[in-house]
Amino acid sequence: MFTCTGYAARDAATPLAPFTFERRDPGPNDVLIEILYCGVCHSDLHTARNEWQNTVFPAVPGHEIVGRITAVGSDVTRFRAGDLAGVGCMVDSCRSCPSCQEGLEQYCTPGFTGTYNSPDAVSGGHTYGGYSTHITVSEDFVLRIPENLPLPAVAPLLCAGITTWSPLRNWGAGPGRKVGVVGLGGLGHMAVKLAHALGAHVVLFTTSASKIADGKRLGADEVVLSTDPEAVAAHAESFDLIVDAVAAQHDINLYLGLVKRDGTLVQVGAPEQPLPVAVFSIIWRRRNFAGSLIGGIAETQEMLDFCGAHNITSDIEIIPIQDIEKAYARMLKSDVKYRFVIDMASLKS
Ligand code: NAP
Ligand code: ZN
Ligand code: ZN
Repeated sequence: MFTCTGYAARDAATPLAPFTFERRDPGPNDVLIEILYCGVCHSDLHTARNEWQNTVFPAVPGHEIVGRITAVGSDVTRFRAGDLAGVGCMVDSCRSCPSCQEGLEQYCTPGFTGTYNSPDAVSGGHTYGGYSTHITVSEDFVLRIPENLPLPAVAPLLCAGITTWSPLRNWGAGPGRKVGVVGLGGLGHMAVKLAHALGAHVVLFTTSASKIADGKRLGADEVVLSTDPEAVAAHAESFDLIVDAVAAQHDINLYLGLVKRDGTLVQVGAPEQPLPVAVFSIIWRRRNFAGSLIGGIAETQEMLDFCGAHNITSDIEIIPIQDIEKAYARMLKSDVKYRFVIDMASLKS
């Protein structure tokens, strides 16, 4: 074991603060990563504030991790010390259930090991995430980072990127398809970029008038202010797919009404309270209301390689870790352009 420093929430009401803890030394199949940057996902905030009522404290959030490998175990074959590496939302899974066999570890039957807030089957206790100096991870859950992309702007691909890529691919976003994105935050801005790069006609729905120009710059063909009923109604029954990335309560039936016959609204945003669905929203036009959880390791690598080939990264604001509470406060006001990324060098200052 070795000592690691990071930032942790001690309980749901106290600001995150410096925290020292132990991590395991790399075993034969592990790599040790010095964390250079970590993205700030709204799930970190839901967890720190115990909004999903499953947080084990102290909680070290962070699952958009990029860094450099400093040591590898004796049986590691895919990485060497000095390589760049990424870690997303998972650090392990059972590896034998049908979902794991299909490369869909996020749907592992007994449950995958989350990068934070999961029981740690190897070291005991629970897992601590990327708001920290180092992490030890099985090489099977480590991603290769395209060398041509700016490293801090790659970090958010590890959650925001894959969480939107997976449903876009699963429901066939591409040329000739009309794809809606609801909410221009961390996930939403990656959905816009990726759907555009996949060749779909992209329509962004935002509550923020100040984000209209950005929506177009990021790749939306059309931007609709969701508070304007006429502008929303103009898109009735027209979407093949809508990806809803809103982190708070909102009227889901408004968007279900925009889906065409047999089309799908996929929910990736995870507000703490239920989102009531009026059954006639889905009976009418045989619509599908679906959910999607992050993405598997193989599809995460596919997404990273696609981003490398198409020069896609996240639009970021780099912050020192000491500003994490300010970042959370801005996130709650939908004032993020469009992902905060922590420069982990600030932990040493
Ligand atoms: P974020 O950066 O805070 O973005 C959320 C966006 O939702 C906001 O920027 C805002 O966009 C919109 N919004 C916020 N409050 C709203 C309201 N009351 N009504 C309508 N729109 C509102 O959050 P994120 O990191 O992208 O995460 C989004 C959600 O996805 C979170 O709940 C997170 O936990 C969840 N998530 C799920 C998965 C998964 O596997 N399914 C993975 C990661 C995260 P506008 O200003 O454009 O309206
Ligand atoms: Zn996340
Ligand atoms: Zn499994």
